[in-house]
Amino acid sequence: MIADTFGRPLGSLRVSVTDRCNLRCRYCMPEQEYVWLPKQSILTFEEIARLVRVFTSLGVDKVRLTGGEPLLRHDLPTLTAMLAGIPGVRDLAMTTNGLLLAKHAAPLREAGLGRVTVSLDTLRPERMRELARTDRHADVIAGIVAARAAGFDRIKLNTVVIRGVNEDELADLIEFAQAHATEVRFIEYMDVGGATGWSAAQVFSQREMLGVLSRRYGPITPVTAGRDPTAPAQRFQLPDGTTFGIVASTTAPFCRSCDRSRLTADGTWFLCLYAERGIDLREPLRNGASDTELAALIVSAWRGRSDRGAEERLAVADRGALYQLDALRADPRREMHTRGG
Ligand code: SAM
Repeated sequence: MIADTFGRPLGSLRVSVTDRCNLRCRYCMPEQEYVWLPKQSILTFEEIARLVRVFTSLGVDKVRLTGGEPLLRHDLPTLTAMLAGIPGVRDLAMTTNGLLLAKHAAPLREAGLGRVTVSLDTLRPERMRELARTDRHADVIAGIVAARAAGFDRIKLNTVVIRGVNEDELADLIEFAQAHATEVRFIEYMDVGGATGWSAAQVFSQREMLGVLSRRYGPITPVTAGRDPTAPAQRFQLPDGTTFGIVASTTAPFCRSCDRSRLTADGTWFLCLYAERGIDLREPLRNGASDTELAALIVSAWRGRSDRGAEERLAVADRGALYQLDALRADPRREMHTRGG
């Protein structure tokens, strides 16, 4: 096993296939204009598959397609089939905002995509218009329904909970998820790059979520059976057995068990969501490095990994947005939508 300085294995790789997105969620892409990665720097499907193959030879067995919005990448089922065909990929998943999912769910399933997570912050179309600058709430719901119909059975819904925005919808979202045979995961609002409007006051914490839900439903118990120690979400159960998850990345970070790393669409590899810099894998790849040379580069970086980004943020007094706008414009890889959520 390849382990970092805290003994954390190289287990899960998030592959951002594009930095483009068709939403403008205020917690992720609140600005009017963005600096995009240059077109010629975007990895081809062959380049992505080759890197994933090298990563799997080093222990990665979970791969998640993300972005930006992954469904904006042309012909994603072809890439999906290439990745699904790599023997070391045990779990192939995708995180999407769902806008285009109704059209693509069946071809992706046929191509070998194993799991889908759909971001859904609100059940109210008018609220989504405010939060994400779109009128297409119905398309997201249609996407969830289509994914079920296409045979995806462990669909998760991601909800970023923000005080004063959607913290009044927790119960509604749990019930919606239950009715659609999916499971919701509430994510604490994080001060990741891109979240220029972040403030501690807007974070609705895990503790507060559990408080609201236990007042509504009665005692809530953690689900421990079958728990994956590297999973970011802790799962809970309502008295009637309904389950949901909370990702308490802001108030109770889980850096000590983090086995995740991120590959941007231009082939920059980040060892932590909060890392200032990434490692350029595109240049060696395009300059003819062998698989062995790429593997050596990856192994040496991972063995030196000591990142605990979210824990370090927790220790910051007067915590505010991680980056100001000029710092994001200077390097778009600092953006959450570039490094992949
Ligand atoms: N476009 C896809 C989507 O919407 O799911 C994939 C990329 S998106 C960056 C991945 C996840 O990051 C989403 O579930 C989103 O809600 C989450 N995210 C983005 N900014 C966040 C923030 N400031 N705090 C917490 N989660 C955030």
